[in-house]
Amino acid sequence: MEVKVMKNILGENDRIAAENRAMFQEKKVYVLNLMGSPGAGKTSVLEKTMEYLKDKVHMAVIEGDLFTSKDAERIEKHGVPVIQINTAGGCHLDAPMVQQTAKDLDLDGLDLLIVENVGNLVCPADFPIGADDSAVVLSITEGEDKPMKYPLIFKESSIVLLNKVDLVPYCNFSLANAEEDIDTLNPGVKIVEVSCTKNQGIEDWCGWLLQKVAEKKGAQA
Ligand code: MG
Ligand code: ZN
Repeated sequence: MEVKVMKNILGENDRIAAENRAMFQEKKVYVLNLMGSPGAGKTSVLEKTMEYLKDKVHMAVIEGDLFTSKDAERIEKHGVPVIQINTAGGCHLDAPMVQQTAKDLDLDGLDLLIVENVGNLVCPADFPIGADDSAVVLSITEGEDKPMKYPLIFKESSIVLLNKVDLVPYCNFSLANAEEDIDTLNPGVKIVEVSCTKNQGIEDWCGWLLQKVAEKKGAQA
């Protein structure tokens, strides 16, 4: 019985996710679902991304958070439109939340929408929101075993950001091992080594995003 309920919830989510996808396709907005654990550095990556991209593309951010608007306040300081979703304890964003929130954005004037999901390596990967791609941020301090322990999120992502690589000398973390595991789970997936404090990898990551935005703009509605 419980299994059936779960299936129905997921079925409804997938239906709304398809509606979202169609809406973003019509408006030619490239949408990225940014996932990762609490403290992985999703918001820090976003801040670096905004610094790099905000004069190059029209972007907006949807901030998923359990209770606070702390992250949205950080985004707002960069002059990029941001809308907060508080899940009131819910551990992931779902497609209906994103659909509701997107109504408050001027999609006609947008090229790029980044959705920061709730900090969680598990169920955000189970709930499509209608994004073009997903990205996962894994920080060095979380440990190199995480890809194999939480495989779905790494399989679902089109790009993996290994964040805080400046801390490798202080942590028991082999970039080679982690990257090999990630490639085993998702062969050929793009992996970028990032340090927000040292400005490393930001150009590579933002270049990837710009390419995706350009492809979406060029695609037939
Ligand atoms: Mg955050
Ligand atoms: Zn959840």
